[in-house]
Amino acid sequence: MQTIAERLKITYERIDQATAQANRPSNSVQLLAVSKTKPVSDIRLAYEAGQRLFGENYIQEGVEKVQALADLHDIQWHMVGPVQSNKTKLVAEHFDWVQSVDRAKIARRLNDQRPAALPPLNICIQLNIDNEDTKAGVTPAQLPALIEEIGQYPQLKLRGLMAIPRAQVGVDEQQRSLTRLADLFAQYHTKLSDFDTLSVGMSDDLEAAIGHGSTMVRIGTAIFGERNQ
Ligand SMILES: *Cc1c(COP(=O)(O)O)cnc(C)c1O
Repeated sequence: MQTIAERLKITYERIDQATAQANRPSNSVQLLAVSKTKPVSDIRLAYEAGQRLFGENYIQEGVEKVQALADLHDIQWHMVGPVQSNKTKLVAEHFDWVQSVDRAKIARRLNDQRPAALPPLNICIQLNIDNEDTKAGVTPAQLPALIEEIGQYPQLKLRGLMAIPRAQVGVDEQQRSLTRLADLFAQYHTKLSDFDTLSVGMSDDLEAAIGHGSTMVRIGTAIFGERNQ
């Protein structure tokens, strides 16, 4: 079996190759290691191999890991899962980024509960790019209002968009989704300062996502192996 360090290296090679193939500058795509359901010992192994950006899906589990790894000062923690309004305080206090904001109420609470001693919380709006009933995220039509709302909050810094395109579709449909997403991102990227992050691409589709302008891929399985849950 491969070690986490080996899997991480292979993943960085995939990213480099896809970036070169898309004629994009090297280092224009960041890797977020999604460690949900995996033990803190796995996160330490990835950290020792040089990884610094980690993503978690479940708030309680995420906060426990942030606390257990508080000695690793330069980890950047991203919440990528659903944020219920009664959990916003925990998220505002422990995370550096929240990529899954899709409601004004959640944004307002994160702003109000972000401790003043910490820098503004980095935010991505989750976009439901394929209009799937089962998926969180705003529709493209709802996006402008939420962007304007978040722009008013001093303790939030709006960094971009996050999306989970529909899995297991044909190449054409996947390309159409990714193109729609890239077009929306480009509109705001040119208008707003700090709006520099397009978070899309997972273990199975990182190449396609990088081909369509992703600046951050979120990778779990390819680094940490299959999840049991
Ligand atoms: C689990 C998860 C990932 C990682 O998915 P893999 O297919 O294991 O790479 C990325 N983004 C989100 C939002 C996730 O929940």
